[in-house]
Amino acid sequence: MNNRRTFLIQAFFGAMASGLGCRYGYATQVFAKSNPLPVNYEGLVLSTWHHGLAANEAAWNILQNGGNAVDACEKGVNVSEADPAVSSVGYGGLPDASGNVTLDACIMDSNGNAGSVACLEHIMHPVSVARLVMQKTPHVMLTGAGALKFALDHGFEKTNLLTPEAKEAWNNWKKSGARYAPAANWENHDTIGLIALDHQGNIAGACTTSGMAFKHPGRVGDSPIIGAGLFVDNKVGAATATGEGEVVMKTLGSFLIVEFMRNGMSPQQACEAAIQRLTETTHIHKSMQIGYIAINKEGQTGAYALRSGFQYAVRSATGSQLLDAASLLGWE
Ligand code: ASP
Repeated sequence: MNNRRTFLIQAFFGAMASGLGCRYGYATQVFAKSNPLPVNYEGLVLSTWHHGLAANEAAWNILQNGGNAVDACEKGVNVSEADPAVSSVGYGGLPDASGNVTLDACIMDSNGNAGSVACLEHIMHPVSVARLVMQKTPHVMLTGAGALKFALDHGFEKTNLLTPEAKEAWNNWKKSGARYAPAANWENHDTIGLIALDHQGNIAGACTTSGMAFKHPGRVGDSPIIGAGLFVDNKVGAATATGEGEVVMKTLGSFLIVEFMRNGMSPQQACEAAIQRLTETTHIHKSMQIGYIAINKEGQTGAYALRSGFQYAVRSATGSQLLDAASLLGWE
């Protein structure tokens, strides 16, 4: 039996068995569609920003070789973490105000498991540490020195993550007055969030960042916070965020998007509704940017930003694309 048929039959009986139609009120609508579900059983990978293109490719290769969604997500974002040219993630990430590179990352699999690290120093692949937190501990999140000890105990090596370019940027920032200011769409300075749907129709996600450049030492953003920077519910879909983490944290943006999808919205509608929601509670300043991407169980995608300039990368059987997300506001 081909993948697609298997998936449709499993989806149908799975929904019947769990009574989804009664509990959430949207399953009837889904199953009443006359067209076949647009299930992308050939795999689908979505990620934030331009550097998502290379990450997607690595994730895609894993899916094409029969790998599962969580492996694809981890190995995909590992590419950005190791790339010194990406100044917002892992090695080469811009440091905090004291010149220390501190990393935040999280991962969620399709069984609802989650792992996360925050304010982790000296480790090139924080998302892989987050995955081990998920798999090997009864905890979800480890931070700072404890996270570093855990990583070293599990064979990760200490690396100097501050590249000469990042050090120079930090020195220039200090010379220019050393004032911290969040900046929208700034020079590729952005988190990678990557969400994937595998051949079995299972969904996972990963998110990893060096956070806002020159942040206050000890600052943690949305990216390692489950429900803020990333959320996955394998029955429904997944969402991930980039931009000013404080705002995403206060509105639990990724969780909100998945809940909107659970209640019947498409990924696109859900991303738009989450951006709309934050405008109701947040003072929007000139350089604030928030971007969301989402996928659902049917292989539909969504992306939306507060301001123009947010790009996201898509990899599917039809190829690889970098797309401009629609936005609520213009650049200014
Ligand atoms: N969301 C990240 C943070 O606040 C930064 C970003 O995506 O640009 O740490």
